[in-house]
Amino acid sequence: MHYGNIKNYDIADGEGVRVTLFCSGCTNRCEGCFQPETWDFCYGKEYTKETEDQLIQMLTNPNIQGLTLLGGDPFEPSNQRTLITLLRRVKQELPTKDVWAYTGFVYEQDLLEGQRKHTEVTDEMLSYIDVLVDGPFVIDEKDISLYFRGSTNQRVIDMPKTLKSGNVVIYHE
Ligand code: SF4
Repeated sequence: MHYGNIKNYDIADGEGVRVTLFCSGCTNRCEGCFQPETWDFCYGKEYTKETEDQLIQMLTNPNIQGLTLLGGDPFEPSNQRTLITLLRRVKQELPTKDVWAYTGFVYEQDLLEGQRKHTEVTDEMLSYIDVLVDGPFVIDEKDISLYFRGSTNQRVIDMPKTLKSGNVVIYHE
C-alpha cells in the first residue's frame, strides 16, 4: 500500500483530535473529488512497518482521541489487507482509542459478504471501526454544513450498533 499523507493533529475528520492516514488508491472517481491525486494506488510513499510503528506512536499521545482512515479508499481490497494489521494493533495496544473510517463504497451494497469489495478481512476490519462514513461524494448533494461528511447521500454510521442489530444505525445525522 502507498499513502499520501499522515496528519498528527487532525480536527477535520472525526471527533476530537485525531491521527489520520490518507491511504492511496480509489476506484470511485467521484466528480468533484477533493484529492484526485490519491486515486493512483502508487501515489505518495510506500507504507511500511516503520509507518505503522509511527502511527501507533502518534496515537499514544493522551490528547489524541483516535485514528481516522481516509483515502483514496481504505476499503479497496488491497488496502484492507494492509490496514487490518494496523487496526489489530490499535485494538490490542491502544484499546481506548476510537477508529473512524471513510469509504466511497456503500456499506450494504459493497462491503457485506458476497459484495464486490468484501474480502477475507472486511468483517474483521468493520468490527474494529467505531464510525464508518460511507458512500461516494456526490457534487450535486454537496453541503459544507454536514457533520463530518461532504454530501447528503453519505452516512455517518455507528458500526458497533449496526453489527449488533444487523441494520444500519446512524451515529449522527
Ligand atoms: S471516494 Fe473519496 S477519494 Fe475516492 S473519488 Fe470519491 S471523494 Fe475521491
